[in-house]
Amino acid sequence: MELFSWYQNELIPTKELKINFTDDITGQLRGFRIFTACVRFGSNKKIFKRKKHIKRLYKSAKSIKMKSPYSKTDLNKIIDSVVEKNKDYDGDIQFDIIFSGGKTSSDGFTPLGLSTLIILSVKPFDFPDKFFKEGMKLVTFAFQRPFANVKYTFYLPAIFAHLTIVKDQEADGIIFVDPNDNETILEGSSFNIFMINSNDQILTYPLNGKILKGITRSIVIKICEKFKDLEVLEQSFTKNELINSKEVFITSTTRDVMPVTNVDGFIINDGKPGKLTMELREALIEFRRNSN
Ligand code: PLP
Repeated sequence: MELFSWYQNELIPTKELKINFTDDITGQLRGFRIFTACVRFGSNKKIFKRKKHIKRLYKSAKSIKMKSPYSKTDLNKIIDSVVEKNKDYDGDIQFDIIFSGGKTSSDGFTPLGLSTLIILSVKPFDFPDKFFKEGMKLVTFAFQRPFANVKYTFYLPAIFAHLTIVKDQEADGIIFVDPNDNETILEGSSFNIFMINSNDQILTYPLNGKILKGITRSIVIKICEKFKDLEVLEQSFTKNELINSKEVFITSTTRDVMPVTNVDGFIINDGKPGKLTMELREALIEFRRNSN
C-alpha cells in the first residue's frame, strides 16, 4: 500500500507530491521552514506524543515570528485525515509536519501572509542493525545551531560534516561541540546526547537555548526519574568527560535510544553498548507500547 501526504487541501500519494516553488519562495529559497517529525508506530495506530510535537511546532513558529497556516484545532483535523487515509498501511509511518515560509514581499525576505502546510508521510529511515548491536561511532564538530530551540530544516553544517569528517573518519554521525570553547558537548545533527558517569548519574545538556528540546529527551528523562530511580543532571559536560564516561547514548523520535561506543576515535568503556543504555531503550519502547 502506498503512503499519502497532504498539500494544498489534497491528499496525494507521497511519490507524486510536488511543491509549488513560486508560492513558497521564503521556504524554498530562503530556508524559512520549520517542521516536526513524528511517528505512528505500527500496531499503535496513533502518532506517538502528537500533542507535544504540535506544541513544539507552534512554539517554533512563534519564536521566529512565522505565521502558522492553521489554528491548532484545524491542523489537528487535517492530521486526523492524513492518519485516517494511511490507516491500512502496515508498518511505521513518519509524518513530517512542515510549515514552509510561503510567498515573499517585494524585498525578497519579508514573508507575505501565512506559511504553507505540507504533511509528508514516509517510511522512517531504517538504521543499520550494527548501530544497536555494536553502538555508533560519532565525531565532534564545532558548531552551535542558531535559533537552537527551533526545529527547522536547515541541516547544512551537519551535511557538510558528514561529507568531510564523518566520511574521512569512517564514523556514523556527528556531535556538535560549543564553538566558543571547542569542549562542551551540545547535541547531535538530529538527536540529543546523554552520558552516564561512574556514579550512574545521567547527564545531558540543559535547556538554555543552545540545543533543541527533543521530545525523546524529555521522555527518557522522565523514564529515568520516575521508573528507573536514576538521577538525571541537566548540566553541561566536556568532550573529555564524554570520552571517559561509563556509557553514552543518543535520543530522537526515529532512533529511540541508541548506544554510542566511540567518540573521536576513543572507545567508550569496554566498547560495547552500555547495559543501562539498552535497559532505557527497552523501557522507552515499552512506555510507547503502553501509551496512546
Ligand atoms: N536535536 C536536533 C538538532 C534535532 O533535529 C532533533 C530531531 O530531529 C533532535 C535533537 C531530537 O528531537 P526529538 O527527540 O524530538 O526527535
